[in-house]
Amino acid sequence: MKSPVTQILRTLHERYASLREGHLADYIPELTKADPDWFGICIATRDGHVYEVGDTRQKFTIQSISKAISYGLALEDRGEEHVLSRIGVEPSGDAFNAISLKPGSGAPFNPMINAGAIATCGQILNTGTETRIQRITEYLSRCAGGQLAIDEQVYRSESATGHRNRAIGWMLRNFGIIDEDPRDIVETYFQQCSLLVTCADLAVMGATLANQGLNPLTGERAIAHEYVDNVLGVMASCGMYDWSGEWIYRVGLPAKSGVGGGILAVLPGQLGIGVFSPLLDAQGNSVRAIRVCMDLARDLALHMFNPSAVPPPALRRAYNATQVNSRRRLPVDAFRTLRRYGERIRVMELQGALLFSTFEPVIRELVRQAPYCQHVILNLAYVASIDDVCLRMLRDIGKQLGDYGVKLVFCHAARLAKSLTAAGFELDVMFPNEDAALESCENAVLAAVMQDHRMEPESATLAECAIFADCDPEEIRLLEERMESISHAAGETIIQTGSRADELFVVTSGSVEVRLRLDSNRSQRLDVFSPGMSFGELAFLDGSPRSADIVAVAPVKCRVINRPFFDEIGARHPSLKAKILNRIALQLCERLRQANVEISALRS
Ligand code: GLN
Repeated sequence: MKSPVTQILRTLHERYASLREGHLADYIPELTKADPDWFGICIATRDGHVYEVGDTRQKFTIQSISKAISYGLALEDRGEEHVLSRIGVEPSGDAFNAISLKPGSGAPFNPMINAGAIATCGQILNTGTETRIQRITEYLSRCAGGQLAIDEQVYRSESATGHRNRAIGWMLRNFGIIDEDPRDIVETYFQQCSLLVTCADLAVMGATLANQGLNPLTGERAIAHEYVDNVLGVMASCGMYDWSGEWIYRVGLPAKSGVGGGILAVLPGQLGIGVFSPLLDAQGNSVRAIRVCMDLARDLALHMFNPSAVPPPALRRAYNATQVNSRRRLPVDAFRTLRRYGERIRVMELQGALLFSTFEPVIRELVRQAPYCQHVILNLAYVASIDDVCLRMLRDIGKQLGDYGVKLVFCHAARLAKSLTAAGFELDVMFPNEDAALESCENAVLAAVMQDHRMEPESATLAECAIFADCDPEEIRLLEERMESISHAAGETIIQTGSRADELFVVTSGSVEVRLRLDSNRSQRLDVFSPGMSFGELAFLDGSPRSADIVAVAPVKCRVINRPFFDEIGARHPSLKAKILNRIALQLCERLRQANVEISALRS
């Protein structure tokens, strides 16, 4: 099956394959050997998938496209300030080979015209072990995700005829923009322009720039994150020479062209495009490649300044502890206390990429809620990334909330724990899941509100068990006599998922946990029962197999009504059976109501 994406590229290829406008670059004699029919179109996605149609594996020389990438290397070698002191970032409106230097300083207008690119070469360090051209080759190769090599014939051809570029080199030397013999630097520049690439390589280089400098094919860091915006910035304003204004207006993507016939375009954060066709227009840009990019930008809505989607807001939903509680059965008074004071605990589920614009509404909400709550749980389960700006804002708001008496905690923070700790958050405010975070905050609220608060009694007699609340002493005596006693050590499984349900349990001391098996080594806690509470009713009543595991979380003692005894109660003491069933029914009503509140909060 063919992907519709490939089909889109194929349609474009067919549309322009017969377009024969333009001419081969001939000022570098070797370039006239190109086949005017060569035509390839590639899109590389940010996760490293390459769509390709046409001559996408045909090698050609990268020429000026190399200027954009090697600018990144110069910035890494010398730092932004130093590079900017020698090479401007202003579109010149001149042709690529113009001898255009700023009057006075002699600084080239920008690194995308030849003067700026030769000056850029001069900025790249010759290390003891590697020459400039070796370092440039490695750098570009990392961006492409494969080893690039120089086309010696094209290099010799340009070197033999490139007197204009030599003149530019000497001018740069004259103004002190380059400090060494310009002849070597210009040779390095010719070699850099003669690196062989394919149209697929260009798309991957574009995807690397789209992916914050990380090559999506190899996962390798190719360009330092901090300079990606500098590289894309000059591409956007100067990448298409004296057609740059038209280009950014019509196509709206940072791009760079070369006289070999290639164009590399980038949709930042999203994808890279490589198009190759050697027939050039008067500016030295590939005629077909320009048309393809214009159509692609329009058909796929890629224009950077008119994005068809905005990132989703970071706040996915919010609720408080009157609506959603930790997964444990609370004693009635504690439960009622939380229904009353639960607003003091606010949960905010966040999602997507946390950037200034998506995160700002979260900050606004935190400021608004501060007077009404004492605990805020930020659930990071659906957060894809958090940038430095948000980390700073989070640290500041966390501190302010703290001073105000509101504690900020996180759950599902494991992936982001490193960043959060670096921003000054302690590990003890990071909980593995929302259940654990809620439990801790609930305990704090309960302790503050209920004097002498004890979460649960240490033990309960049968008369104190909720399902026997209506029984008279006679009935309790019968139950005492006939109910089996069992005990389990902490960690022991009392009930296995899937097993037959012939018993109904009440806890008389210790506690048990209901665990739903997610897969072979993960489970989720659904409920916790403490003395006085019963478990196992559901399957006991409807006869279906057990739906979850029951595990002792502390040494536990239970009393058990088994099926024969229950049947006997039905036959001989029908009113006792009715009392027990009535209590179970009331408990189920309460649980259902609680579930409804929770579901409506979680659906909002
Ligand atoms: N090597 C070529 C030159 O300097 C690069 C020009 C280009 O691709 N626009 O003339």
